[in-house]
Amino acid sequence: MGFISSLLDLLFPPKCVFCSKVIGSGDEGWCDKCTESLPYVGKNVRQDGEFYEFCVSPLFYKGQVRKSILRFKFRGAASYASVYGKFLAECIRENPDIGYEIISWVPLSSNRERSRGYDQAMLLALATALELDDVAVETLTKPHDVQAQSELGGRDERSANISGAYAVMDPDLIQGKCVLLIDDVVTTGSTLAECAKVLLSGGASRVVCAALARGE
Ligand SMILES: [Zn+2]
Repeated sequence: MGFISSLLDLLFPPKCVFCSKVIGSGDEGWCDKCTESLPYVGKNVRQDGEFYEFCVSPLFYKGQVRKSILRFKFRGAASYASVYGKFLAECIRENPDIGYEIISWVPLSSNRERSRGYDQAMLLALATALELDDVAVETLTKPHDVQAQSELGGRDERSANISGAYAVMDPDLIQGKCVLLIDDVVTTGSTLAECAKVLLSGGASRVVCAALARGE
């Protein structure tokens, strides 16, 4: 290991992205205890969706996973993306019949991205694609801000809130293609459904989804 990276480890010791315990610099980004105790969804579990065929997720959105994702989204822990990407890539590999042709993500509006400094779903998609020896491409834009879905209650309210919020970037890119959409958390699936609807009406043949964590 080089001098600079040793120095960086000393100044900023690597921590488990889930429980924040200090870990060795050669570790993958999470600790042994979390490996044993994380709320795994389990293999071959899929959530059905509207407009998209299904969504796969490696983890449940609770406990340390929930706290970790909140740090990632709201407290600038952008570096977590590379660790999350390993979980998502493993989950996608366990579902080889997905048959996607394009990896993309659920975009933030440009206003929200500016205030946060980064688009967390884009980082997740880029990191996941890298693990899969692939690339992630932008297929959707979100021209306007809408109220955060997490501030709303039921499926109907959430669907109404984001109806019309997304637009296809480049219809030629998705024509006849199966798009794998990546997001951080799936709860009611309303956001994924809206994105899938827009992609299908823009010419995509199928839409499948992968979210890092899902509601129970
Ligand atoms: Zn841990």
